[in-house]
Amino acid sequence: MNSNAYFREYSARAASGSAVLPRCGHCSTVFMPPRAACPECGAADPGWMPANGAAGTLYSFTVMGEGAQERIIGLAELDAITDGSKFYAQLLCDDTSQLTMGAAVTVGTADLGSGELVPVLTLRGAGND
Ligand SMILES: [Zn+2]
Repeated sequence: MNSNAYFREYSARAASGSAVLPRCGHCSTVFMPPRAACPECGAADPGWMPANGAAGTLYSFTVMGEGAQERIIGLAELDAITDGSKFYAQLLCDDTSQLTMGAAVTVGTADLGSGELVPVLTLRGAGND
């Protein structure tokens, strides 16, 4: 499986409601983004671990668009990721004043209007639990 196919698998699993993270079956490294070989040991075809509810902290974010088109892309450090890479996804948050570096976030899936579930980050607390 090449990296494009691997990323499609990641998206397909999210579409079925299961956010996942790539996890090497050989050395247990958990990493992002999905790719066909483990970045740590080079083993091919890493497996997956469930990521619904995976916790982490907000490392950075950017606000794109405005008004009804506004969306926030979050970059998070997840406790489950072992190689120091970051997880990025659209960040769901009703009140951007709550967004601060280090804010607690969790991974899940949501339909953001395309009719298909995609991986998302949700800000914990502030009624978003
Ligand atoms: Zn590995």
